[in-house]
Amino acid sequence: MNTRNLIGYNYLPENGKKFKALDPALGIDLPGEFYAASIAEADAAVNLADKAFVEYRSIDRNKKAAFLRSMADEMKAISDEIVERAMGESGLPAQRLQGELARTTNQLYMFADLLEEGSWVEAIIDTALPDRKPLPRIDIRKMMVPLGPAVVFGASNFPLAYSVAGGDTAAALAAGCPVIVKAHPAHPGTSALVAGAIKKAAEQHHMPEGIFSMLYDDGYAIGEALVKHPKTKIVTFTGSFKGGTALMKMARERNEPIPVFAEMGSINPIVLLPMALENRAEELAKIYGSITANAGQFCTKPGLLFAVKSAGLERFKKALSEGITNVNSATMLTPGIRSNFDKLSKDRLEEKAVSVIGQSDKLDKEKVNQGLAVITEISASAFLADKKYKEEVFGPYSMLVVADDITQLEQVVSSLQGQLTASVMAEKEELANYKQITDKLADLAGRVILNGPPTGVEVGNAIMHGGPFPATSDSRFTSVGTSSIKRFVRPVCWQNWSEDLLPDELKTDNPLNIWRLVNNNWTNK
Ligand code: NAP
Repeated sequence: MNTRNLIGYNYLPENGKKFKALDPALGIDLPGEFYAASIAEADAAVNLADKAFVEYRSIDRNKKAAFLRSMADEMKAISDEIVERAMGESGLPAQRLQGELARTTNQLYMFADLLEEGSWVEAIIDTALPDRKPLPRIDIRKMMVPLGPAVVFGASNFPLAYSVAGGDTAAALAAGCPVIVKAHPAHPGTSALVAGAIKKAAEQHHMPEGIFSMLYDDGYAIGEALVKHPKTKIVTFTGSFKGGTALMKMARERNEPIPVFAEMGSINPIVLLPMALENRAEELAKIYGSITANAGQFCTKPGLLFAVKSAGLERFKKALSEGITNVNSATMLTPGIRSNFDKLSKDRLEEKAVSVIGQSDKLDKEKVNQGLAVITEISASAFLADKKYKEEVFGPYSMLVVADDITQLEQVVSSLQGQLTASVMAEKEELANYKQITDKLADLAGRVILNGPPTGVEVGNAIMHGGPFPATSDSRFTSVGTSSIKRFVRPVCWQNWSEDLLPDELKTDNPLNIWRLVNNNWTNK
């Protein structure tokens, strides 16, 4: 494992402040030394990416697809090493990381297929109508083009799927944008292994040097320099509200403001309707599994449950209490994330208005940095009185908000801010009576779920992982699935250019099997 900063094909000398990776479960340092990059190195990485962009954007789409597939293959070739190191650095179990690695490589294959199919460029062709009356129409053709160098901040909670070769990197490279990753300091060794795999794939396919770089940081200086660099054209981020909004501000204040696609947290409300509670309270209580999976460190963890007082709700609470008490504690990703979780959950538990439905007592004494699962309860009126209850508690925590009646339930749902997901547990026949609530859920979230947990995000073509602020910085875009490529492109139209001068995708007679609009008729020729 080469642990140094990587710019293009070159590992940098061992300069900068040294740091080590921590095993959060045992509280000990892991092997390997890492070095914070310098501002000059950040500058060099973006300049090289900008140079690479000129060549990379026009490389044949099949070649780009082959490169993405090789990235996945190279990761698979060292999968055991990646999983072992990621386990050490994150405290996440092997099975979760094996699944995450499969998701990461499948994402790369999926984007390779998308490139070969080609329709994502959204080629639209309005051929000239010289005889149109009263005025002739000129030939205009539009398609998506890449934005330029992308800065990707690796996320702490997905050391593979939202990190060095994660969804953001895959989508950016597929779109034609070179990538500079700011590695998350919680998993530098995992990042090094994955960066090595990308470097190998890039070299095999003779990709322009600078197509990919990865830098470490000792604080915020490198992240800031990358966002502020005049040649950076787009930033993606997954993490805290504070971090995401700081990057948004930096990007907005540049001479040339650029888009920041920040995913900053969500409480993923679940509304439990009366008939469903009456019919299957005990089954619904199994939601504690979604609240506590991987120590609740998912952006889609359900952090708020809403219901109206009823006998069914009492049965639900009893089953929830029994379930949560038996949940084993799990290692949290970093001591910082654990202490943040302890602080926020303690803060809520100390409030008079808050009572405990259930709390796990299964602490693993062999390990440190454990998060103990807890579910609390509050009345709707107390919930409405303090906005802190609407903030994310990242970790194995959730709160049940109990309303006196449906009007109050509507009131609490209406008070919520933007979310990644919103769920409703309901019998089909009762849904029509709660249309106001379900419409509101669709207004505030990017994914609206009926009778299912929000965790477990399907990576596909129809998925939407993004929602109104503050869940994400731009609710029009998803950060998961093939549509996430749209964050890295912009539309350009060519007016009055002859066929021979146009990009291939915009030629009416080109052999690519791409669906396009020609003279207002969709055609695949
Ligand atoms: P974070 O503190 O937001 O950091 C994420 C990345 O952004 C790190 O690489 C960090 O740099 C960088 N960064 C943060 N603020 C910055 C700034 N002002 N300027 C430049 N770079 C900046 O997130 P985290 O470390 O993953 O976890 C902290 C908290 O974030 C958690 O306790 C949780 O509340 C939240 N979180 C939420 C989700 C979610 O999906 N909902 C996921 C992860 C985290 P350095 O660390 O290198 O200094």
